[in-house]
Amino acid sequence: MSTEKQSGHIGVTTENIFPIIKKFLYSDHEIFLRELVSNAVDATQKLKTLASVGELKGEIGDVSIRISLNEKKKTLTISDRGIGMTAEEIEKYINQIAFSSANDFLDKYKKDANAMIGHFGLGFYSAFMVSKRVEIITQSYQEGAAAIKWECDGSPEYTLSETKKADRGTDIILHIDDENKEFLEKSRIESLLKKYCRFLPVPIVFGKKTEWKDGKSVETEEDNILNETNPLWTRKPSELTDDDYIRFYKDLYPFSEDPLFWIHLNVDYPFNLTGILYFPKVKSGIDLQKNKIQLYCNQVYVTDSVEGIVPEFLTLLHGVIDSPDIPLNVSRSYLQSDSNVKKISSYITKKVADRLEDIFKNDRAQFENKWDSLKIFIEYGIITEEKFYERASKFTLVKNTDNTFFTLDEYKALIEANQTDKDGNCIYLYATNKDEQYAYIEQAKERGYDVLLMDGQLDVHLVNKLEQEFQKSRFVRVDSDVIDNLIKKSDNKAVSLSDEERNALVELFKAAIPTIEKTDFIVGFEHLSEKGNPVTITQNEFMRRMKEMSEMQGGMNFYGDLPLSYNLTVNLDSPLVTKVTADKENSKDTICQMVDLALLSNGLLKGEALSKFIKRSFEQL
Ligand code: ADP
Repeated sequence: MSTEKQSGHIGVTTENIFPIIKKFLYSDHEIFLRELVSNAVDATQKLKTLASVGELKGEIGDVSIRISLNEKKKTLTISDRGIGMTAEEIEKYINQIAFSSANDFLDKYKKDANAMIGHFGLGFYSAFMVSKRVEIITQSYQEGAAAIKWECDGSPEYTLSETKKADRGTDIILHIDDENKEFLEKSRIESLLKKYCRFLPVPIVFGKKTEWKDGKSVETEEDNILNETNPLWTRKPSELTDDDYIRFYKDLYPFSEDPLFWIHLNVDYPFNLTGILYFPKVKSGIDLQKNKIQLYCNQVYVTDSVEGIVPEFLTLLHGVIDSPDIPLNVSRSYLQSDSNVKKISSYITKKVADRLEDIFKNDRAQFENKWDSLKIFIEYGIITEEKFYERASKFTLVKNTDNTFFTLDEYKALIEANQTDKDGNCIYLYATNKDEQYAYIEQAKERGYDVLLMDGQLDVHLVNKLEQEFQKSRFVRVDSDVIDNLIKKSDNKAVSLSDEERNALVELFKAAIPTIEKTDFIVGFEHLSEKGNPVTITQNEFMRRMKEMSEMQGGMNFYGDLPLSYNLTVNLDSPLVTKVTADKENSKDTICQMVDLALLSNGLLKGEALSKFIKRSFEQL
């Protein structure tokens, strides 16, 4: 190609695609910097490759990529010391290929502008999102190549001429337009570089380091390198210590507590993926946050929204995933059906399960220690991911009300003999609150039953899931029925009341129940032995669970809007009950007292009813 100044017309059909580029990418202008720095990194890596195969004459030298601002000229420059371009290469890569790929890109995304935002593909031409004019000044590594200056003002016209350049490599000079002045601010550029370039494999220099001297900040001689070129996930696990992993975690999430565990991912077949996933320490559900995992593509930051790439439950983890095999220039819905992404997702699930199983097998004490923080992740996985359940059921723990941990198999072995009902169902008794359900827990223990503590955020769902998975098993909360009925060993004695007697007694007890808003009581009768409490209040397991589930889902719905419904069971074998039924007229206070005591042990006696009860009790003393 002649090296005299020439001009040309870029071969695109659209008269002026730059206004379109600007319009389409309106909300995400900042990615131009990622694209241009990535190109600079590519050019540098290519140079290193050439050097390693002996194709480079001379020294590699310092290959830092330098970003600089010129306030007066209103320019932002990205300079690399990579392979550079010859005039022919500019013609080919910039005028033809890059331009037509920008055009293709727009064609592809015209209908779905959102899918485009934040994804790769626009490359060099994204420079025009923020610039009124762009210059390329480049010197190829090839011997005898002339330095070239290319210039384009956003119309399809460009100029190309020979120029002088001291060094091998490329300067991309952006003349920032008036609408994008923010990209001339030092702090804005620095924060963008930190976001997108933090772990790039080539040093990224932005000005000089500053230090405090005589009460003010002054520039030093030292380059201000913003990135870590060998981030932890690119290194060999065998070379790393626990401290390294924890330090890296704190770099990523400065105000977090130490993580519980981490998993170093490293696979090169059938796809390429590296990364480190951390199980964060959560104090409560409020802490739980999705979108903490950062996705990289060859160390270039892409996004922190990884839904569709990792299984839903793992979006609760923290850390980084780096894969050149995740297609980034496609829409999310496409991503979810991509077979590579599916493989990646099941690989990560398997790795997480492997690691947890290892810790469980090798250090059960540690595993139990951390269980309360860990269980939210495992339970979420079990509930949402069948594959994970299959693996995790081996190391999922349950804790009983005496704080002893069991695996699911161990627990079944513990209760099977004593807690199987007359129909052969194994009954898992559980409590959701040790204090509120204290009396019921104690009663169950007196019978020799064991009671699980299920007070976690996801335990309601876990209980449903385990019931589906286990054969002939049910989970029953300790206060969901009178103790004899929790695990029915034989048919109950038939109730010996005529309809008339029954109706009269129902009326009598109903009259004694204080009115509680949005709460109903159903009076029933059982023969529960002489020693049993005369009156017990319980809440049906099924109804309570339905209500809990619908409350979690929120909004108006059938179960959510039903009043709370309790069973008030009168023990016909209790001598006290025999006494009051024999003398109904004079027993009203005693019945009130019995009902109130039952309400009290269930935490249901409050306000005026409680105050009446206290008064009545004192009077009776
Ligand atoms: P992509 O990077 O996806 O190939 P771009 O539009 O970003 O698309 O760039 C087009 C081509 O221009 C690159 O493939 C590369 O050959 C060349 N190029 C861009 N920037 C540089 C640079 N800084 N140094 C050398 N070549 C570059």
